[in-house]
Amino acid sequence: MDFFALKGTLEGLGYAVSCFASADEACDYLDGQVDGTTVGFGGSMTLDQMGLFERLSAHNEVAWHHKSHKGPGLKAELQKAHAARVYFSSVNALAETGEIVNIDNTGNRVGSTWYGHEKLFLVVRRNKIVPDLAGAIHRARNVAAPRNAQRLGKKTPCAQKADKCYDCNSPDRICRGLSVFWRCLAGASIEIVLIDEDLGY
Ligand code: SF4
Repeated sequence: MDFFALKGTLEGLGYAVSCFASADEACDYLDGQVDGTTVGFGGSMTLDQMGLFERLSAHNEVAWHHKSHKGPGLKAELQKAHAARVYFSSVNALAETGEIVNIDNTGNRVGSTWYGHEKLFLVVRRNKIVPDLAGAIHRARNVAAPRNAQRLGKKTPCAQKADKCYDCNSPDRICRGLSVFWRCLAGASIEIVLIDEDLGY
């Protein structure tokens, strides 16, 4: 996969794009970009593994229910993240043709990528990149979602081996909606941060 070509494709679709050789370099860059403001995070193993929450929390007001509230304060924390000026999310898959795919359960993450923030950063690691939209949807459904279900201990058929999606009808199903960006949303400020490393789901 050619990062230079992908950057050009994404810029042609209206996104700002920054590229980094490692998660540490990306973290340093983002730490310098976002200062003294409110920040929301969507659920993401990539962001967690980068340590970005800890870095930004030192000089911003950061809301992320994964870190700070899992009990009674959960709803308020989600609303705080949704109201933040800057929002961070990873993606389930990015096509080399430019489409961005995410699956969501409650809708908080996907909803925040669609609207409501002054600036959206989408952090994408190398292993999320596939050739086309069909491959991106396949990856989101059959790689990212089963691994997340397994990590979360869900009672779904995919959680046993995280091998594929069984299109289950389980009450624990985490796949409730699919988001596809064909190009940068009108009027939105979206920066895609490409990292040439494998991590996250
Ligand atoms: S639809 Fe069900 S089986 Fe398929 S990935 Fe989602 S939770 Fe797993």
